[in-house]
Amino acid sequence: MSEETQAKAAEASAPAAPQAASGPAQGSGSHANGPRPGGGPGGRGKFFRRKKVCKFCTEKIDAISYRDVRLLQQFVAERGKIVPRRLTGVCTTHQRRLTRAIKQARNIALLPFAARH
Ligand SMILES: [Zn+2]
Repeated sequence: MSEETQAKAAEASAPAAPQAASGPAQGSGSHANGPRPGGGPGGRGKFFRRKKVCKFCTEKIDAISYRDVRLLQQFVAERGKIVPRRLTGVCTTHQRRLTRAIKQARNIALLPFAARH
């Protein structure tokens, strides 16, 4: 008699496993990206990037002549584009003069507008 009761009791007291459900793992894994593939900065990093001092300021060049092609070419990329200031380190004032000089030089065909294929 007592055996029966004990068996039933044991059955009832079996743990119902309350934590068995697969809870939603709240790990918002935001750190799983790691370094980006192929998103490197620079692109064509051919231009010098050190020495962030304006070349014209250091050399005390005040007026930039459009006829100074060799000078201008340092600030024109191979494709004929003007290299942005943050790459060359030229100050705003000189970059402006430089841009004007380059455009003038283009107009008289000293510099190419853009490279042709
Ligand atoms: Zn300058």
